[in-house]
Amino acid sequence: MTAAASRVVVLGSINMDLVLTCPRRPGPGETVLGDGFATVPGGKGANQAVAAARAGADVRLIGALGDDAFAAQLRETLTDAGVDIALVRTVPGPSGVAGIVVDEAGENSIVVVAGANDAVGPPGDAEAAAIDGARILLCQLEIPIDAVVAAAARARAGGTLVALNPSPARALPDALWTAVNIAVVNTVEADQYGQAIARVPHLVTTLGADGVRYRGPDGAEVHVPAPTVTAVDTTGAGDAFTGALVADWHRGVETALARAVTAGSLAATRHGAIPALPTRAEVDRALGLSVLPRDHP
Ligand code: ADP
Repeated sequence: MTAAASRVVVLGSINMDLVLTCPRRPGPGETVLGDGFATVPGGKGANQAVAAARAGADVRLIGALGDDAFAAQLRETLTDAGVDIALVRTVPGPSGVAGIVVDEAGENSIVVVAGANDAVGPPGDAEAAAIDGARILLCQLEIPIDAVVAAAARARAGGTLVALNPSPARALPDALWTAVNIAVVNTVEADQYGQAIARVPHLVTTLGADGVRYRGPDGAEVHVPAPTVTAVDTTGAGDAFTGALVADWHRGVETALARAVTAGSLAATRHGAIPALPTRAEVDRALGLSVLPRDHP
């Protein structure tokens, strides 16, 4: 973190992913023998907070954890990544979990239980002060919409930019769309939201291996290709992209987009979500190398 680091507040979910691997996923009423199990920190809020912190931003996360053992592990992961979790509340009951069953072909079935994430509410005094003091508020949709709408309105009123990754897609009130400055969607979400996202001043559509398309307030479009990589697992690529984008937004949109596609692509070359998120130095290196002539030693 440097003195010039951008202050980012992320409002969102924190989950423990329980990943079971098995040759074949069970059908109704069936039991199958699995061959692997891992607990993996996740949730879009946590992932994007870590992504922005690794990208060099000064990040505070607003969210909620339960009073179970997963909460302690998740706090440690976030703190180790440099995310300020003073505004992550503890509520009675379980933390958010996702049960993920992955078969030999890499196909999965997922059950998400929101747990403590459902207890995230509109900002209180401390959260409002953090939002007021930030350059950007970044939200997703894995927590109650009321909380997102109220936080976005607060940010808008105080001159803090609002970035929204409206995922998973759901119907959103007009009051939210009018507060959003920057929307980050993938191609599936772009189709799902249709006209609703057309009025967002800065629309960022990620295109997987094709990189990103950006449309600014003046209507002009830019396409930034992604570096060619060998993708092994695209889990977390979108979160890496979004975190890097908000961390560097203040350096200008072209710089932010270039760094974000590079961060997303680096994440796609590694397994998992949080472990795959690249550091600022790794993105620097990848960008530096990409402009060297082919025959450079
Ligand atoms: P999501 O994972 O949210 O669906 P995308 O698939 O569009 O989002 O990926 C987000 C970003 O991650 C892309 O803009 C790109 O930078 C990077 N990325 C994803 N998949 C690949 C890939 N196969 N090769 C290179 N970069 C990728």
